Amino acid sequence: MISIEEAQQILKENQPSPRITDVCLSEAHGCCLAENVFAPEPSPRCTNSAMDGYAVRWSDVQRTTENEPVSLQVTGESMAGVPFEGEVGFGESVQISTGAMMPQGADTVVRIEDTDDSDEKVKILAVRKQGQDVRHAGEEFQAGTKLLEKATVLRSRELALLGAVGLYTVSVFKPPKISLLITGTELTDLQEKDIKPHQIRDSNSIMLASAVKEAGGKILESINIQDDLESTIQAITKSFNKKADIILCSGGVSVGRHDHVKNAAEAAGFQQLFWRIRQKPGKPLFACRKDETLLFGLPGNPVSAYMCFNYYVKPVLATFQGFPTCKNCLTAVVEEEMANPDKRTNFIRVIVSKIPNEIPSIKKTDAQGSHMLSSVVNADGYIILQPGEVLAPESLVKVFLF
Ligand code: AMP
Ligand code: MG
Repeated sequence: MISIEEAQQILKENQPSPRITDVCLSEAHGCCLAENVFAPEPSPRCTNSAMDGYAVRWSDVQRTTENEPVSLQVTGESMAGVPFEGEVGFGESVQISTGAMMPQGADTVVRIEDTDDSDEKVKILAVRKQGQDVRHAGEEFQAGTKLLEKATVLRSRELALLGAVGLYTVSVFKPPKISLLITGTELTDLQEKDIKPHQIRDSNSIMLASAVKEAGGKILESINIQDDLESTIQAITKSFNKKADIILCSGGVSVGRHDHVKNAAEAAGFQQLFWRIRQKPGKPLFACRKDETLLFGLPGNPVSAYMCFNYYVKPVLATFQGFPTCKNCLTAVVEEEMANPDKRTNFIRVIVSKIPNEIPSIKKTDAQGSHMLSSVVNADGYIILQPGEVLAPESLVKVFLF
């Protein structure tokens, strides 16, 4: 058995290398940029109006006062998408919409609210300054400006910016492809109505598939396997041949007569990295590798599987995609004494209470059993207590948030 630190170190040394690919924007959501992005063009691309109103020459309107409005001829219109082709001459104006191109000759926009357009002409009732309500070409950024840093995660707003400057394909880190192999003869499909007392609903399938998606991975397949050595070898071999980056097995990894994942992986040509960690929950965690494919044998107990996924698998998925790997943490005060009398490191699931302007405080969830999903559902995260460690009330501790 090894420590949690040793297990993490082994995984770091066996981290599969990230791969880079070009994707179109509609497929880039959640991906991480593999390079800096520079503006291929200025923004805005052309000088346009910030308001609905009239494009005018400042020299015509600058002497406008409330008592002496200026009257201008209206010679045309510049709509968004349909520019005015002529020039605005002295004593003239052109109707203009927000976002429409400024016509030649005009340098200022008078908002519709500051005009009176009762006849062929428009009366300018008020102006503030030359160039008002005009958006100049390149005022946001010039061509060549750095828009996004390498390793930025592409969400809606970044995708909009890339689209706005005409970058339809971007270079990103490839999301890892994950095969889920769910072992257990006792398992039934979640839709099964006629479940027998000795059967267990396969909640790990939906949990792990969702956790992989939350971590940015792509599910290549999700296969259920009976507790049978041959079927397990075959399933692992198939997933490897399909070029899964990571094979996530659930169950069958402990020391029971019907636990076949470890032997099956070795028979399929994988080399063990570690098996069994001094931790609770999740002691039986198994990891092995063949070429660039990693296989994790997660314990079947749902809480153990979830905690092992969070602590060990998620950082591997993050690094593979170029995401920052630091876990989402906060410092909190312990409300009541917490102790770990075990010989194994404990992942204790906790509820965080946030009080404005104070350090958050934590308490344990009531259920802590590795089969009790409420222990993670009712928790905001977990703390790590080493063997024999005692935390007195009011002491500070690092909380890993889910
Ligand atoms: P195992 O690690 O295969 O020995 O399984 C340990 C415990 O976890 C057993 O009580 C199983 O019934 C339960 N278990 C295993 N796989 C799943 C699963 N896919 N969904 C829910 N519970 C499971
Ligand atoms: Mg099992």
